Amino acid sequence: MIRVGPAGYPPGSKGPVDAVERVAALGFSAMEVQFVRQARMDEAKAAEAGRRAVELGVTLSAHAPYYINFCSSSQETREKSMDWLLKSARLCHLLGAWVVVVHAASYSGAGEEGCTATVTKALRKCRLEMSEEGIGDVEIGLETMGKKGSWGTLPEIREAMGEVEGVVPVLDFAHLHARSGGSLRGRQGFEKVLDEVRSFYDGRLHCHFSCIEYTGLGERRHLPLAARQPDYRHLARIMKERAMDATLISETPPPEDGAKEMLRLLKGRR
Ligand SMILES: [Zn+2]
Repeated sequence: MIRVGPAGYPPGSKGPVDAVERVAALGFSAMEVQFVRQARMDEAKAAEAGRRAVELGVTLSAHAPYYINFCSSSQETREKSMDWLLKSARLCHLLGAWVVVVHAASYSGAGEEGCTATVTKALRKCRLEMSEEGIGDVEIGLETMGKKGSWGTLPEIREAMGEVEGVVPVLDFAHLHARSGGSLRGRQGFEKVLDEVRSFYDGRLHCHFSCIEYTGLGERRHLPLAARQPDYRHLARIMKERAMDATLISETPPPEDGAKEMLRLLKGRR
C-alpha cells in the first residue's frame, strides 16, 4: 500500500488530535509530526492522537530535531544529540509512530569515514537505551541528505544499517536529486535508487518528496511538484507497478498541495 500525507500539521490545526482528524478529512493516510525545533508534546494528547490515527487509518511518523549532530566537534552537542533523539523516540512510541526520522550528522571535520563510525556507535547506544525503556518498536530512520557536507548518502546509511538493528533508510528524493546534481532524470533515475535500496532493505519504505532547487553544494530550497525537478510522475508509476509498501511524505511549500498532487499522480494512468 502507498500512503501519502503532509510533513507537519495542516494549517489551523489545534494540536495533534485535531491534526490527525484534519489529515484524514483531507483524504490523506499519513502525517509526519515535526519535532524539528523541539521534541515536546503533551503525553496524554500524543497517546490520544495515536488512537485517533489508528481509527482513521493515518500512519504516523515523526521528524527529530534538526540540530542533532552525532559528529559535532562539540562533545556537549554529541551527547545531547542522543537525548534529543530519545525524546523524539519516546513521543513516537506514545503516538504509535513507527519511525523517527533523523538528520544524523554533518561531517564537521571528522571526515566521512570517521563520521560513519561515530554515527554507528551513537545509534547503537540509542537502540540499547530504547530497548531498555521498552520503546524498541520505534525504528530510527536515517534520511538521505541533500548537502554535500551532511552525513547521509545511501552507501553510508547502508553501512550503518549493517551494524545496528532497528535502523531503516528514509529516502528524501529531493535530497538525492540535489546532491547528485540532478540524477533523478526520467524513470531510470528513480528505478536506480529504488533498486539500490532494495539490495539491502526490503521492509516498508518511508520517503520524503518535493521538487528542489540546487547548486554545486547540493540542496537550496524545496519547490512545488510543478517544477518537475525531479518529475514525480515516474515515481508514482513505478511505485504502483511494484505495488510498494511505502509512505510518501510531502515537503513541498505548502505540504498539503504536494500531497494532493501525489494522490492525483497515483490515481492517474500516466
Ligand atoms: Zn528531514
